[in-house]
Amino acid sequence: MKFNTKTIHGGQHHEKVTGSIMPPVFMTSTFAQTSPGKPVGEYGYSRSANPTRNALEDALASIENGTRGLAFASGLAATDSVMKLLKPGDEVIAMDDLYGGSYRMFTQIYQNFGIKFHFVDMTDLKKLESLVNSNTKLVWAETPSNPLMKIADIAEISKISKKHNILFAVDNTFATPYLQKPLDLGADIVMHSATKYLGGHSDVIAGALIVKDKELGKKLHFTQFATGGTLGPMDSFLVLRGIKTLHLRMQRHCENGIKVADFLEAHTLVKRVYYPGLKNHPNHETAKKQMIGGFGGMVSFTFASGKLKDAVLFLENLKVFTLAESLGGVESLANHPTTMAHASLPAEKRADIGITDDMVRLSVGVEDIDDLLQDLEQALSLC
Ligand code: PLP
Repeated sequence: MKFNTKTIHGGQHHEKVTGSIMPPVFMTSTFAQTSPGKPVGEYGYSRSANPTRNALEDALASIENGTRGLAFASGLAATDSVMKLLKPGDEVIAMDDLYGGSYRMFTQIYQNFGIKFHFVDMTDLKKLESLVNSNTKLVWAETPSNPLMKIADIAEISKISKKHNILFAVDNTFATPYLQKPLDLGADIVMHSATKYLGGHSDVIAGALIVKDKELGKKLHFTQFATGGTLGPMDSFLVLRGIKTLHLRMQRHCENGIKVADFLEAHTLVKRVYYPGLKNHPNHETAKKQMIGGFGGMVSFTFASGKLKDAVLFLENLKVFTLAESLGGVESLANHPTTMAHASLPAEKRADIGITDDMVRLSVGVEDIDDLLQDLEQALSLC
């Protein structure tokens, strides 16, 4: 089955009793038993499994070419279940530029449990490998990264991880499986904030993990069941509905994304544009190799003036783009990483990796490109 068919049919079955095309929203916490320990059907209690969540999980496994998908209450709940595979003394190598909430979880929660984190620019494979030691148990990459759009070479990192017998997890939120399939490139775990492109309509908070290895799938399901970060049936339905149009939306996100990046790059008030589809992007060749069919809808940029005041003026004056947290919905959003998505990174850490106060991150939606460019132009003209 091709990807554009999998988004609609992958892992899906018509409901047995009525033939319903979409799975019913099984709004139930529990399921009747005929005798102690003998449920009427396959289900016992919704924290362990729920038919609507299972329909979504099968769709997730299908679109990422995995054997098992797991749906969580948020992207961070999904990440949390991966971290619970670790024990005190273990070490993790993570991308230096990653979603602020992931950084916050690693440094403010799991570091307290005796897990050590090394943050590194993963475009430098030698540096990455130099951090490996006998305690290294996990490599955590986000590519494209948030908000600098760095591209980590998934195939090369998976070779290093396999050589040293380390689990390799990829946050595939920005690219989605429409553009990039980390499991096919050798990663062990794919993570999503399904709140973003998978859901696609800014109406749900959700997360996902997908794996190829069945034993790893069982372990992660055990953690999910034992610690309870599962996604509810209504939210599962919404993400499943979103996935059905993922390929259509991503195609337009990519078309609009490159046009916005080109527009900004040609603008005199703009200093630097961060978009992996631009030929001058430092990791453009790696992006071309592993992102098939486009480069997504996320674009960051900085101002020629280098001034925070210009970023603020620009963000206050947008009319079609909305200034808001999050990304990946049909509507265009704008974000100021320093005070919003990456506020939880210490200022010196942000400065270190190049997240400046004049940086703006755009989630380019699927609206008419003329309206988007006009909006950017009018907001820039007021800076
Ligand atoms: N990963 C990335 C790349 C994100 O952008 C986000 C949220 O913005 C997350 C993970 C966390 O996901 P959630 O907000 O669904 O918990």
